[in-house]
Amino acid sequence: MPMDPICKIKVPEDTPYFTEYGGKKYRFCSPECKRKFDHLEKSVIRLKRSIAEQDKISFGHLKRDIIKPGICTLCGACAASCESIAIEDEQPRLVGKCTACGVCYNQCPRTITTEEGLIGKIRNAYSARTAIPGLKGQDGAVVTSMLAYGLEEGLIDCAIVTVKSDEEPWKPVPVIAKTYDEVVEAAGSIYSHSMTIEPLMSAVKQGMRSIAFVGTSCNIDAVYKMQKSPYGFLHLFMRANILKMGLFCMDTFSYEGIREFVLNKGMRLEDIEAMKIRKGRMEMQTPEELKVFDLAELDPYRSSSCRYCTDLTAENADLSFGGVGTPRNWTTVLARSGLGYEIFNEAVDNGYIESRLLESNEMNNVLNLAKMKKIQLYSVSRRKKA
Ligand SMILES: Cc1cc2nc3c(=O)[nH]c(=O)nc-3n(C[C@H](O)[C@H](O)[C@H](O)COP(=O)(O)OP(=O)(O)OC[C@H]3O[C@@H](n4cnc5c(N)ncnc54)[C@H](O)[C@@H]3O)c2cc1C
Ligand code: SF4
Ligand code: SF4
Ligand code: SF4
Repeated sequence: MPMDPICKIKVPEDTPYFTEYGGKKYRFCSPECKRKFDHLEKSVIRLKRSIAEQDKISFGHLKRDIIKPGICTLCGACAASCESIAIEDEQPRLVGKCTACGVCYNQCPRTITTEEGLIGKIRNAYSARTAIPGLKGQDGAVVTSMLAYGLEEGLIDCAIVTVKSDEEPWKPVPVIAKTYDEVVEAAGSIYSHSMTIEPLMSAVKQGMRSIAFVGTSCNIDAVYKMQKSPYGFLHLFMRANILKMGLFCMDTFSYEGIREFVLNKGMRLEDIEAMKIRKGRMEMQTPEELKVFDLAELDPYRSSSCRYCTDLTAENADLSFGGVGTPRNWTTVLARSGLGYEIFNEAVDNGYIESRLLESNEMNNVLNLAKMKKIQLYSVSRRKKA
């Protein structure tokens, strides 16, 4: 027996209340339900079409991300927006055909689907690379170029950056950099936690008044909280302006873990010239060759805090920088605050950086990775397969 799509009760085939729409016959228990359907369904179908043009998201996605992990609140929004979904045994279930229109997923209060929800507030997004001849960075060396501009123009007194330890290769050492050579030495990413707040405090205490701070999302949050919390170090921050330069961050690994991993692969940390995480793989460059490993192999060494982290793009920064979304050797730049926007564009205007606006397909790659991180809290193990 067919189901009334409005009140979800079974109705006879030959009910006098029906509507033919999109090649399908819908049957109702009463004229009231038919009227509601005629009024509402047309706009829902229009919405479904507009979403379907962008992306195919099926009920399976809602099941995987929200229902199965047990974070569905049983609000009923999905069932109310689609006749193919019914709440049965205290769970939304697919009871009809799914056309992967994405409405239920986008409607659900538990999914995060808006740009602001996924990457925070931004003013503009760019793809950029250094215009300083010979300068090399992790991606487009944009962070280092901005620091060079800030120091050379006298906009900043120093920068908090992270260099590799001389004694223990690839061990992160956070430092106060005051010269071009010192910021250039710090270029590149080290995939272990860096205790960046210590040199920041020290710089403030030494009397630095304008400081560029480079750090991962969690580092940026530490500064953000200090600036905001009445129980933090507000009195120190009254003495200095801090430009928060956030690095996109999906994972870090324990230093000892990376060392063990490298040794197990028959290599030595001191021989590795560069490490790069890209598209689910860890690339390690040695003088002889580029070794590429599935990131899942490093999972045992992943810092436990990163499993519970949902901020890919350093949402509390003035500017955020990452490799995802942009061609190799370019950096994705998100300008967030007015200060971040102005300084980045000044560095471009003064010939330190080459930049163009990020294209929508490139932004989608950033949003997809951000989404993966937002929902990882709910299903940690799935990232291994992604
Ligand atoms: C741990 C970590 C994980 C990352 N994960 C991702 C990711 O999943 N996806 C993505 O798109 N991008 C990620 N990034 C950002 C990316 O690797 C680049 O840092 C970013 O694209 C900027 O590139 P760049 O060439 O402009 O920077 P560069 O000019 O090379 O400057 C990099 C700056 O990063 C600082 N730095 C290096 N290591 C650390 C550290 N451990 N903690 C704090 N500061 C550090 C250096 O001091 C330097 O100033 C990650 C970065 C780090 C450090
Ligand atoms: S709203 Fe219905 S048709 Fe659209 S994705 Fe969800 S279950 Fe499928
Ligand atoms: S819309 Fe989301 S939270 Fe509400 S019932 Fe459906 S799956 Fe559950
Ligand atoms: S994943 Fe999150 S917690 Fe882990 S280092 Fe990156 S920003 Fe910090």
